[in-house]
Amino acid sequence: DASRRPLRMAVIGSGPAGFYTAYRVMAKTAARVDMYEALPVPFGLVRFGVAPDHPEVKNCQEKFEEVAQSPDFCFVGNMAVGDASSNRAAHNPHGGHVPLAALARHYDAVVFAYGASRDRKLGVPGEDLGGVYAARDFVGWYNGLPGSGGDSSRIVADLARADSDTAVVIGQGNVALDVARMLLEHVDVLRKTDMSEEALEALSRSHVTRVHVVGRRGPMQAAFTIKEVRELMKLPGVGLHGFDQATLLPPKLKDLPRAQRRLMEVVVKGSMTPLKEARKSWSLDFCLAPKQFSASDAAGDRVATATFEKTRLTDPFDSNAQVEHTGELVDVPAQLVFRSIGYRSKALADFDDLGIPFDDRRGLILNDGLGRVLRDVRSPDASMTTQPYPGFYCAGWVKRGPTGVIASTMEDAFTTADAIVGDWQSQAHFLAGSEEARAGWDGVRAEVDTAGAKVVSWADWQKIDRVEMDRGQQLGKPRSKFTRTEDMLAVLG
Ligand code: FAD
Repeated sequence: DASRRPLRMAVIGSGPAGFYTAYRVMAKTAARVDMYEALPVPFGLVRFGVAPDHPEVKNCQEKFEEVAQSPDFCFVGNMAVGDASSNRAAHNPHGGHVPLAALARHYDAVVFAYGASRDRKLGVPGEDLGGVYAARDFVGWYNGLPGSGGDSSRIVADLARADSDTAVVIGQGNVALDVARMLLEHVDVLRKTDMSEEALEALSRSHVTRVHVVGRRGPMQAAFTIKEVRELMKLPGVGLHGFDQATLLPPKLKDLPRAQRRLMEVVVKGSMTPLKEARKSWSLDFCLAPKQFSASDAAGDRVATATFEKTRLTDPFDSNAQVEHTGELVDVPAQLVFRSIGYRSKALADFDDLGIPFDDRRGLILNDGLGRVLRDVRSPDASMTTQPYPGFYCAGWVKRGPTGVIASTMEDAFTTADAIVGDWQSQAHFLAGSEEARAGWDGVRAEVDTAGAKVVSWADWQKIDRVEMDRGQQLGKPRSKFTRTEDMLAVLG
């Protein structure tokens, strides 16, 4: 009788979705949870996404640490589930990997919480020119994500180029504003954060003085939020260029719903530093759709111009307005381009073996919205029906698509956890199998050859954590991250 023994659960990924699911399940029922993380270090985008000058956002880590202290919790770090591609991406020769099928045999429930490890491409000509970057790679690089951005010497050199004075960020979400802020903020402010030393050094040599943050729609449709815009408005010595308020904003802001009104007021008020006194400046360039990037001449391999097509909105004041193209082109000179149009989740390489369905268009695992993975099953009468896939659940960005802050990821993870606990208590959808089969990580380890891999336990991570904080203290910052997996593992001897 399964209700008499603890639920055996594997969580794949140690970001907010993984930790909040584990937390809630363990709070609601007797459960033993093993958390598999591809990297030697935990916390996903809390460590590698959230901007270094937003330390308060990282406070959720305290909750995660509490979860990890439970004797019923086991961290299996440096162990990717699926193929070894994430190890290759992180240049991690000592990373292990476990096939999903081998893992699933040893648990009642498996939760996919592995986030979004790719970026979306624009699909326009010139996207591969030198100087054009994915925001994901830039963010990963300044946050010390192992292997991010491939060869980081490129971005270091690009920032230091004397002619790199103008950057274009494509997209107007909060990640785009993070990128703009890192380019505009005084580097001495960033030195007090856990930004990687390489990035600090490169940004201290940056010649960027002008940043365009470009969107296809208008201010009333923008995805950024008030805190992030306000931070940019307050940057000392940084001015904001104006935009066409008469056509893009309703005549009376005071009639707008409160949250939108406040946001628009911040945008209209502009920066604290007037443009004529500013050492750097930025703009919100609305109603421009990227068309192509080009070099200064046909033989050139570096971006010199970003070309946009002007758009028209079906109703500029409606937040759901559609974009229409006008055919009118605008050239913006730019030596650096960051495309920030979203992250993307991908299917694990062995999903096909188990018939786990992945929606490639939306970039998420098919699920019932409550976190149960769904699959098509042939009924006895040969018709197909969609049913929960016993034992498989998902949470976070891989469940909802790559949008939403940590708070919404938490809500979402709680929903998944409640489905798991409900199913466990009613015995509704769990993997069939005997109690002996629920050996968890011990069972997996006995079955899979992980000889070449260094498994990182929670105690190991705490050693890495301590060394990073000590290194940081010497530099007057909260933490100096290791940016290579070899260096993380070297701490463990
Ligand atoms: P992730 O945090 O991405 O965690 C997934 C984990 O799974 C990672 O650790 C990854 O290494 C691991 N993994 C991947 N593949 C495998 C595998 N095959 N096997 C094992 N492990 C694997 N939210 C805020 O509230 N405030 C902010 O200021 C903020 N800033 C952000 C800035 C950026 C640049 C980005 C991208 C996001 C930001 N967010 C912010 C949003 C927040 O980071 C997300 O909502 C949240 O991290 C999503 O959680 P997740 O657990 O689904 O994914």
